[in-house]
Amino acid sequence: MPQSQQPASPRKKATIKYQTTVLFCLVACGAMIGVPAFAYTYGFTWLDWTMFAVLYVVTGLGITVGYHRLLAHRSFDCLSWVKAGFLIAGGWALENSALKWAADHIRHHANCDQEADPYNAQRGFWYSHCGWLFIKDTHADDKYASRLRQDPIVMWQHRYYLPIVLSGLALPFVVGFLYNGWIGGLGCFLLAGVGRTFAVLNSTFCINSVCHLWGRQPHGQADSSRDSWLVSLLTFGEGYHNYHHSYQSDYRNGPRWYNFDPSKWLIFTLSLLGMTNSLRTASTDNK
Ligand SMILES: [Zn+2]
Ligand SMILES: [Zn+2]
Repeated sequence: MPQSQQPASPRKKATIKYQTTVLFCLVACGAMIGVPAFAYTYGFTWLDWTMFAVLYVVTGLGITVGYHRLLAHRSFDCLSWVKAGFLIAGGWALENSALKWAADHIRHHANCDQEADPYNAQRGFWYSHCGWLFIKDTHADDKYASRLRQDPIVMWQHRYYLPIVLSGLALPFVVGFLYNGWIGGLGCFLLAGVGRTFAVLNSTFCINSVCHLWGRQPHGQADSSRDSWLVSLLTFGEGYHNYHHSYQSDYRNGPRWYNFDPSKWLIFTLSLLGMTNSLRTASTDNK
């Protein structure tokens, strides 16, 4: 039967995931109320802003290079300790363990724009941006995680995900505390811990929402993926999403030298140092 004639399967009633919802509300309130209230009352120091910037870059690259290009797409290989470092940095972004994240992402590519796509952009901006997080996923399928489960470093990160997350929040507190006592610790925790987490979460969410709704499709219209250089500025190069959907295992998302893609620059630079190897591109895959 042609696909267009298939009856649409009835969507099951959504079950709210309360833990995730409460956690996200805490982070959002901390970032949107706690951060400005602290700025008004005490003000943030240069150290708070430096830690914010450093942790934004470190945790953002942990997601784009570690979770996404290394684990979900195997677009390069690397030394074990480098992989562990990327997975710790990615864990600090509070986007779930690499096992869960990468399995969801593999399913996104396999079922893009369909019901089984975990962040299906056909269901609208807010659903694909963050709404999908708050309801139980009825299409979860462990087959997408089976390859990842063979990787002992992935399983190690999955097992110790909670302490990894807590260490990422404790780090700015300790740095701020050493600089300026309890108030220093609280300020650095709020800005570089909670505010930074909220910022990185939303920049990642933009890939699933903005990059499937608005932008150009120079590499194909097989699915809703789009290129957005603006999103690339926030996400270390992940905004060239139409190219990425067309050439998923390319270690670059922006293939041209002038495309703003710090993730590919990092992977390439590490390859010169012998820390990453077997970098895949669309052309090497076609040989
Ligand atoms: Zn996508
Ligand atoms: Zn991808």
